[in-house]
Amino acid sequence: MTRPDIGSDIKRMTAYCTYCPKMCRFSCPAAAAEGRETVTPWGMMRLFEFARDGSVALDDDVADAFFHCTGCRRCQSFCAHDNDVPRALWKARQWAVESGFLPEPYVELYERFEKSGNPYGDGPVELDASPFDAEGTIGYWPDCSTVEHRPQIIGPIGRLMSQMTGQKIRLIRSADFDRPPCCGFPLSGAGIEDGDSCRDEYWPILDDLDAVWTDCPALAAWNRPDSSWPLTEDDTQPSIDHLFVLLADQLGNLPAPAAPLQVDDTMLHQSCYVARQLDGLDDVDTILSYICVSPPQKMAYQGDESPCCGGRCHYRVLEPDASDEAARRVVETLDRNEEAQKVVTTSSMCGHAMGEAVDHEVVTSLLEMVCRAYDCFES
Ligand code: SF4
Ligand code: SF4
Repeated sequence: MTRPDIGSDIKRMTAYCTYCPKMCRFSCPAAAAEGRETVTPWGMMRLFEFARDGSVALDDDVADAFFHCTGCRRCQSFCAHDNDVPRALWKARQWAVESGFLPEPYVELYERFEKSGNPYGDGPVELDASPFDAEGTIGYWPDCSTVEHRPQIIGPIGRLMSQMTGQKIRLIRSADFDRPPCCGFPLSGAGIEDGDSCRDEYWPILDDLDAVWTDCPALAAWNRPDSSWPLTEDDTQPSIDHLFVLLADQLGNLPAPAAPLQVDDTMLHQSCYVARQLDGLDDVDTILSYICVSPPQKMAYQGDESPCCGGRCHYRVLEPDASDEAARRVVETLDRNEEAQKVVTTSSMCGHAMGEAVDHEVVTSLLEMVCRAYDCFES
């Protein structure tokens, strides 16, 4: 069997984990929800180390273990070596898939993606496209979870972007599908493609745009050199970044909301990709300061330590029950806070996962709150 070419930094990471007394075990949403040592950061990395050096054979069970990381980087916040476990495990997955081990749920994910350009659904999507203009040179590329689960906020986000930039906004669409396309990150989570090949194969043409903004933290992370999986630089692409960067920078130039939001009864969940892949905590605080009378309630673990809801698409299709359990655990922290009855989260995908696990009425998203504060639901 071919050994993977993984580079010295990942070799160092797998070695550190293999001989570690599992210092980060408690932090991992998969380990907590599944209750198995094999899917702790230590267990997954150790198996990668042993499979790579030939001490254990790469078979279905070993390969399966590599896929139970959501990419949340929470273990890294508690790791003395600052190990980037998702970076290593994404490599392990690619190697497993190249070696013929693709977990069965990902076959369906791949087929759905090929058919519809979205890992979640293939039906028609009703969205308000009136704020957008195909001639615009600033793009909005919606998170595929927003497209499938919260399409009603796509129009308001377009209005908000127009107000902030004073420019026409183009909704990123696909020539092949009747909906904004997914960037392909779920395929990389499934080990089927890497980021560069997703860009080459699946992205629409963007080179006539000046900038692209997205509410997909995974797409934004791909475009950051300090994330777990940075794309190779490509000068022909416009800058692509998370909408929170734009909002934090520009909301202060708009007239203040007529009625700032009262969120005393709401607890803030920091999506792990926004917090740890995008380093977006300060942007979120800035945005909240523009729209709220006072900040929402904090969770026990906040900021760099914020919990992962297990809602990432590739993990959710692989382990739906554990994904639900991880999401439930996050929302149930409401029980420990007498003031709070709702959760606001910074990612569409997390909002959907938590809403499905508990109750959609209990969960809202920060972008929805911003659009409400600035009356963007009115056309
Ligand atoms: S990520 Fe760090 S703390 Fe966790 S098992 Fe590896 S070396 Fe230990
Ligand atoms: S990045 Fe998150 S899901 Fe992956 S091993 Fe670390 S804590 Fe677990």
